Amino acid sequence: MLLNKNLVKFFTISLVILFILASGSEIKLSEDLVIKEIEEGVYVVTHSFPWQGNSLVVFLSGNDVIFVDTPYNNESTRKVVEWIKNENKKANIIEINTGFHNDNLGGNEYLLSQNIPVYGSELTAELIENGRIYETIKSAVELMKKTGNENQECIEAYKTQEFKAPNRLFDIEEGLELTIGEEIAEVYFPGESHSIDNVVVYFHKRKILFGGCMVKSLESKNPGFTEDANMQEWPKSVKNVLERYKGARIVIPGHGNWGDTKLLNHTIELLVNYNEKN
Ligand SMILES: [Zn+2]
Repeated sequence: MLLNKNLVKFFTISLVILFILASGSEIKLSEDLVIKEIEEGVYVVTHSFPWQGNSLVVFLSGNDVIFVDTPYNNESTRKVVEWIKNENKKANIIEINTGFHNDNLGGNEYLLSQNIPVYGSELTAELIENGRIYETIKSAVELMKKTGNENQECIEAYKTQEFKAPNRLFDIEEGLELTIGEEIAEVYFPGESHSIDNVVVYFHKRKILFGGCMVKSLESKNPGFTEDANMQEWPKSVKNVLERYKGARIVIPGHGNWGDTKLLNHTIELLVNYNEKN
């Protein structure tokens, strides 16, 4: 009897521990907004609207926080910012946009209303200000319909959403180096790719690369949304990223699971194969 009771206790505790281990590092801010800690102080934010899109939050030493890209809209971006402030009331947030698409900067309007500085290239700002983003949104809605991914909530939201350009601009060819304490976040433009303005962000000390939409996850079998892509230059640009950041430990794609530099090799291979057939 005693043995059985102990056994039951043992299994119950084991199950609870397993459950905590499996789900402990995941924070669900809403049905479509999930945050995962990938290592201490580094979080991938995944917003599904309707496609899964990644952004990144890095808590630096002190109160500085770098937020790379945003969820698709203001509402979810507000939730992420409130979560950051809950983690650190004195958080001093800096945003970096890696491109002009809605999965890169859909939350800029909210960030700017909170006086959060938003870094982005002059080209990204131009593609917002000249209205090019609204053409892209139209194509994205078309793709949604074509692929049976029709999500009325997203389609309605996409119709009325207004996009705001970043307010801390840099020349895309020159890139940007943000030095905060002993950390350097480097913004690099390797050439045109998934869009003409996509940049990557590299955290030197941590050897973490946010590849954004130019980097495909290992699960990806096709290039995805290519309406604004330069298909010939894209694989070359990813090669440039690989050359420059060979030592990256963690590579985070714009969509899907992160991993190591295999994602860069996978992206190059996928694009070369795709270009040969198309
Ligand atoms: Zn994307």
